[in-house]
Amino acid sequence: MDCPHCQSPHVSLLQRKTHLGYTMFRCKHCRRTFNERTDTPFNFIEVPTDIVFQVLFCCVRYKLSYRDVAEFFLLRGFKFTHETVRF
Ligand SMILES: [Zn+2]
Repeated sequence: MDCPHCQSPHVSLLQRKTHLGYTMFRCKHCRRTFNERTDTPFNFIEVPTDIVFQVLFCCVRYKLSYRDVAEFFLLRGFKFTHETVRF
């Protein structure tokens, strides 16, 4: 994996992970840390990427309302509002 900040291929794998379980890396060139989602549109979303796609799937495939989708994922332990689903 290349560094998303300076594009250097010289990165090292860190032992720790993010609170969502993503692998962390440190660039040997610019010394910045980053994870698998850094520099992606999902970087600031507070749920795992697979949950985002499951929410999209429920909205598109099953035509559930945003409130129904939020309630469905509350059963799985992910607490967010219908406005978050809409966003
Ligand atoms: Zn770098």
